[in-house]
Amino acid sequence: MADNSKTNAINPQQRTFRCSDAGFKECKWQAVGHDDNEIMDQVREHGRSAHGITNFDDNLQRKVREHIYDRQAA
Ligand SMILES: [Zn+2]
Repeated sequence: MADNSKTNAINPQQRTFRCSDAGFKECKWQAVGHDDNEIMDQVREHGRSAHGITNFDDNLQRKVREHIYDRQAA
């Protein structure tokens, strides 16, 4: 059961994912988000519109999650 308590803690750490890390070598797209689920949403959207991936199966999701890293401070 979902508890609707406030979860607006500020986390300065960002997470990032590069499409090329998942095997699309020539794709320069990358996602930046505050957590892995935010990244996954962007990846699904990108995968569908840019690579025609409509079947986001467990293997693919796991592959993406393996390549989500902490964003390095510049
Ligand atoms: Zn891509």
